[in-house]
Amino acid sequence: MAGEPQDDCLFCKIVAGEVPATVVRASETTLAFRDINPQAPTHVLVIPKAHHADAAALAAEAPQLAADVLREAGEVARQEGVEEGGYRIVFNTGAGAGQTVFHAHAHVLGGRGLTWPPG
Ligand code: IMP
Repeated sequence: MAGEPQDDCLFCKIVAGEVPATVVRASETTLAFRDINPQAPTHVLVIPKAHHADAAALAAEAPQLAADVLREAGEVARQEGVEEGGYRIVFNTGAGAGQTVFHAHAHVLGGRGLTWPPG
């Protein structure tokens, strides 16, 4: 069911403390931790603690929580010192777009020049 922890979900396990992560920020409803395979000097994932499969499902099922994730993404950028240089918030949505973990997450990328379009 939407919002309920999933036994086979890596990010639900991180929320539960069953898989370690380098947490940089937490709120009542969200968690932010460093990506294990960083693509930029700052590469942090911001997730809702509740399980929603992707960004579209999150926005449809829990719009306030989607707003919480976006707010925290901005706070991570400020905390990491990448706000001024510019940063990117990315939600890969669907396997064809590169989504590999089906628990909604925002990538916060910064600390280097970011080109467009992304690969
Ligand atoms: P996606 O490809 O957009 O779904 O992003 C999933 C991200 O999770 C990738 O950038 C992975 O490097 C990252 N990732 C996978 N396992 C872990 C982990 O255990 N800790 C932190 N990041 C992870």
